Amino acid sequence: MGRCCAIIDPICADHDNPSHPESNARLVNACSGIPRNISLSLSEPALREDVERVHDPGYLFWLEQRCAATRNLDWLDSDTYISPRSFEVALHAAGAAVAAVERSMDGEHCFALVRPPGHHAEFDRAMGFCLINNVAVAAKKALEHVDTIAIVDWDAHHGNGTQNSFYGTDRVLYCSVHQEHFFPYSGTIDETGIGDGKGYTINAPLQAGSAITDYQYVFSEIFIPAIERFSPDVMIVSAGQDILFDDPIGRMEIRPQDFELLTRMLVQGAGVPLALVLEGGYGPSHGAAIHHIFAGLTYEGEVKAPELPSERTRTIVSLLKSGHNLC
Ligand SMILES: [Zn+2]
Repeated sequence: MGRCCAIIDPICADHDNPSHPESNARLVNACSGIPRNISLSLSEPALREDVERVHDPGYLFWLEQRCAATRNLDWLDSDTYISPRSFEVALHAAGAAVAAVERSMDGEHCFALVRPPGHHAEFDRAMGFCLINNVAVAAKKALEHVDTIAIVDWDAHHGNGTQNSFYGTDRVLYCSVHQEHFFPYSGTIDETGIGDGKGYTINAPLQAGSAITDYQYVFSEIFIPAIERFSPDVMIVSAGQDILFDDPIGRMEIRPQDFELLTRMLVQGAGVPLALVLEGGYGPSHGAAIHHIFAGLTYEGEVKAPELPSERTRTIVSLLKSGHNLC
């Protein structure tokens, strides 16, 4: 279980806007945290048919044309930019997520450290810095070979696009912990899935300023028991480090070393190797956080019991426990 690798790609630099928080510089900072002994490989672009399991072919055609017609920089909405090669880069980011999941199915932890991020991208539209939903593409492809997948999304923002991709299925357990009353303003605790998917979406919105005690409590009381009950064949982490204390966008209080604990908890709870895919994370300590995630992947000791978190987090957890029958 200790083996791990990373997927990177210099092509990510071809989708860039240096004056935007989601710039290539933030990926360079993140990748500075990859330990030297981790084996690296380059991404391959995702196949169109794999991306079309998640996105409307008409949207993909439109996006490709929009990028090709862009001279330097253009905007799809007030948050989301494209540059001329963005479509190609986004295909590589999705391909890296696919490869990370395949590596995990082969028995090693794998972290796809690529951009643009994906978890806000919807069926037929880009959103929130995201063009193609990397994690959803990788998960839908993996479902061709396995029965069940758990996705944990610890990004400060709710992963609306990922949630919507699997909202009606009992084959994917989507667990998101995020900052409440924050973009994209979805992810309330009563969003739990529909039809066959009822109960297979778990949202834990936490108040701004939440720290590791709050996250550890949500993991130990809700996410880990739900994952153990679900017993997934594949475990994917939407790893957004914009919950760091020094992030310019998120307002959480996670320290870089806290990611080691969160990672260890998922490694122990999942029982299968983790596939991690980069989402947000814009602060100066992002590289240090990535280093601690790799430390968590290779750690083999015990995880200590959590301290009690804030009153507000305990209330959210107790509502989730009864709502998801985890008492
Ligand atoms: Zn985010």
